[in-house]
Amino acid sequence: MKKTSIAIIGAGWTGLQMGKVLVDCGYEVKIFEALDDVGGTWNPKIAYHGLTIHTPIFLCQFVDYPFSEVFHNNLKRLSFLDIFEYCRGYARDKGLYDLISFNCKMTRLDYNSTLDVCTISITNKLNNESKDYKFDYVISTQFNVPKIPTFPGQDKYLGKIYHSNDIKEDIFNDIIKNKQKVVLVGGSKSGTDFAYMFANRNYNINWIMEQMYWFYSYDNIIYNFKTGKKSGFINATFWFIGFILLNIKYLGKMGYYAWALLGIIKCPGKKHFDFNKFHIGYMDQHQIDIISNTKQIYSSISHLDNKQVVLENGLEIDCDVIICATGCDPFDEDLIFSRDGQVINIRDQKQVYQYSVIPQIPKLCFTAFIFPAAGPENAYAKSAWFLNYVEKNLTSTQLHELCNKNDNWNFMKGSPLFQSNEPYYPLTAERTGEFLSGIADKKGLLGYVYNIHFKKQSGPMKAVRKFIEDRMVRRERKHISSQT
Ligand SMILES: Cc1cc2nc3c(=O)[nH]c(=O)nc-3n(C[C@H](O)[C@H](O)[C@H](O)COP(=O)(O)OP(=O)(O)OC[C@H]3O[C@@H](n4cnc5c(N)ncnc54)[C@H](O)[C@@H]3O)c2cc1C
Repeated sequence: MKKTSIAIIGAGWTGLQMGKVLVDCGYEVKIFEALDDVGGTWNPKIAYHGLTIHTPIFLCQFVDYPFSEVFHNNLKRLSFLDIFEYCRGYARDKGLYDLISFNCKMTRLDYNSTLDVCTISITNKLNNESKDYKFDYVISTQFNVPKIPTFPGQDKYLGKIYHSNDIKEDIFNDIIKNKQKVVLVGGSKSGTDFAYMFANRNYNINWIMEQMYWFYSYDNIIYNFKTGKKSGFINATFWFIGFILLNIKYLGKMGYYAWALLGIIKCPGKKHFDFNKFHIGYMDQHQIDIISNTKQIYSSISHLDNKQVVLENGLEIDCDVIICATGCDPFDEDLIFSRDGQVINIRDQKQVYQYSVIPQIPKLCFTAFIFPAAGPENAYAKSAWFLNYVEKNLTSTQLHELCNKNDNWNFMKGSPLFQSNEPYYPLTAERTGEFLSGIADKKGLLGYVYNIHFKKQSGPMKAVRKFIEDRMVRRERKHISSQT
């Protein structure tokens, strides 16, 4: 019998982890990657100078390839190069390089509803040739497309405008060496990273943001616990109480207030209570102290003029370089999706299963949503979900019916990694329950967060692991019986 064929777009840690699981479960898998190596976000072609992982490393491991214990017990957070090497090691040791076509960018996907297959157009970036491939399923991993605003008067501006991802080591050093006047825009993860790096070089910049973000305190909920301090256990308890509150309807925000009050989350700038501005990132006390002492301007850019940035509050700032730390979009607008040749605007579509599927193309799955785990473990949980989805073999009509049950979400709107238009966590368990229906449950999720915060251990939810391992055993049995 012909194996079900699956194309995975992207060889970041999601593509790698899912690729491994799906091969182990007996599927025919091919991975297409636009860059010339694996790693995605952590590949030096994408990562900006000085990027380190915020998340404690025990939360970001491939399920079958643990990081060394050595990274657990200190404040050092790994650099993008460490993560890049880790991803490469995984791809190499698990034989995944053989599955990946590099420099191959998917530009288009058409779903043929009669044949129930997807045709994807892949452009080879080295020779610009395009080729079509047919697959039973396509998994689209997260695409970090840099978001860069257009400023009024930009055409008259004589300086340079960069997205944070463009700032590699040489550009960063040149800015300092040539004493260029910098305006940094944005108060989230990349904004704070750049502010920290400039401050560490004693280099003054103008840092503009509407509001500073809240971050988890690395010391309070990770480091102190790991180093055996009593406060570590107390903070883990506070975190847990806050998490429970966040998942109680109408009480949700109380969880954030409690966290802020107890120092579980910290805001290294002017405090506010808009918890849409909370980044699931971790900042240690040293970073918080440095960043809190930087000059921060709370406004936004009105327009650009010659060599000046003019702010909404009327301030005029001389500027050679604008760095837009304005985040990335998990969805690439340039990709063309169609059904039976009719182009579909994905953003307008209703979707189901936590932004994963649109009913018009039931054989296409997106993986941008983060819950219920971080890093490759998140991809592992999604592999279980995906296996379940393939087995259910839902039609467009069935998916449309599901849509009506939760039609209040817009496509990608709530992706907590890159969008801040809804607070994180509230009703996580409820949503996760629905997303992973038949695989994991609220109890499993609570067990998972309990392990993280009280034992500082991670690992997939038991039910997720069991679901996948059952499929692997089934595949093994089939394989043996086909040989005898
Ligand atoms: C600056 C920054 C910092 C972050 N810090 C953290 C952190 O500390 N902790 C954390 O857990 N998460 C962090 N994240 C989120 C991080 O991106 C994800 O957790 C993780 O790297 C996502 O992995 P992924 O494989 O799903 O996607 P990605 O790493 O984005 O990989 C997607 C891959 O798809 C490829 N691709 C894109 N379009 C196409 C196409 N059309 N055809 C073929 N290939 C394509 C890309 O080249 C890329 O290699 C951060 C993100 C950013 C942008």
